[in-house]
Amino acid sequence: MLRYLQQEVGTAAVGGAALRRFCEESVARMDWLQRHGVEFVGALCPYRTSYPTGPYSLYFSGNEKAHPYAAIAEPAPRGHRVMGSGAGSMNMTGNVLWETMFTSAVRMGVRFEFASKVESLLFDSDTGAVQGVRYTSMDPSCREFAKHKALTMKGSRYHQLSVRILANLYDRCAEALWRCKATTKTLVGQSVILAAGGFGMNENMVKGWIPWYKRVSPLGTSGDNGSGIKLGQSAGGAVSHMHRMSAWRLM
Ligand SMILES: Cc1cc2nc3c(=O)[nH]c(=O)nc-3n(C[C@H](O)[C@H](O)[C@H](O)COP(=O)(O)OP(=O)(O)OC[C@H]3O[C@@H](n4cnc5c(N)ncnc54)[C@H](O)[C@@H]3O)c2cc1C
Repeated sequence: MLRYLQQEVGTAAVGGAALRRFCEESVARMDWLQRHGVEFVGALCPYRTSYPTGPYSLYFSGNEKAHPYAAIAEPAPRGHRVMGSGAGSMNMTGNVLWETMFTSAVRMGVRFEFASKVESLLFDSDTGAVQGVRYTSMDPSCREFAKHKALTMKGSRYHQLSVRILANLYDRCAEALWRCKATTKTLVGQSVILAAGGFGMNENMVKGWIPWYKRVSPLGTSGDNGSGIKLGQSAGGAVSHMHRMSAWRLM
């Protein structure tokens, strides 16, 4: 697996110790997902595909069997599609993975706050250490919550279809509704983990960091607005590989 992925990643950001660890821990990661209820029970897909359908779960997700990869690393199927009822004609089951992990997390006592945005970090005034977050949140029991969710999902759908004018319109409507109803709260904790996606949907950041990609339709959701990166920078964090972008489209 390591020999194969070393060829694929080339000079990209992930390499060295991180790649080795990713390979060494991959079987344990699958066990972990299964312990939380995710099912990978289908058969090995016999043909080359970017996404297996029907009864198939295990597949050759990369170029493992092609030259020159096969000459350097023995081909093995490492793609795993979650079984279940998914989206579209290809039955894409990312939603099943998410729902299963979400249910397990709730069962274990994790508390989620939807329609919430972290707007700034809280710092200890003496030491400067991060001690929590200030966030703005919409109450799920308010009447507008369902409407906000529907607008957000429409925006997301149009982002996937690369219809940016409509996607941005729905995003703006959702944002305006959310701003009217949301209230600001704080949460104090011993540590804050930022896991807030990239910046592909932030046109200014794209222009600033990767202007040569500005005519490429971005992939992702409106949440990829770079706010997590800016939060990290507000605590003195450094950025790297900001000139990299994943530019492809699933047709
Ligand atoms: C069309 C498509 C298909 C893909 N297919 C695959 C695949 O088959 N296999 C695969 O391995 N990967 C796939 N990927 C890549 C994969 O989805 C991403 O690498 C992964 O989702 C990144 O996870 P993340 O947690 O870093 O960020 P995200 O999944 O982007 O999650 C970040 C979350 O943080 C939220 N957020 C942002 N800012 C804030 C804030 N200020 N306050 C609160 N919340 C905030 C966002 O709304 C979002 O929910 C695909 C990506 C796309 C776009």
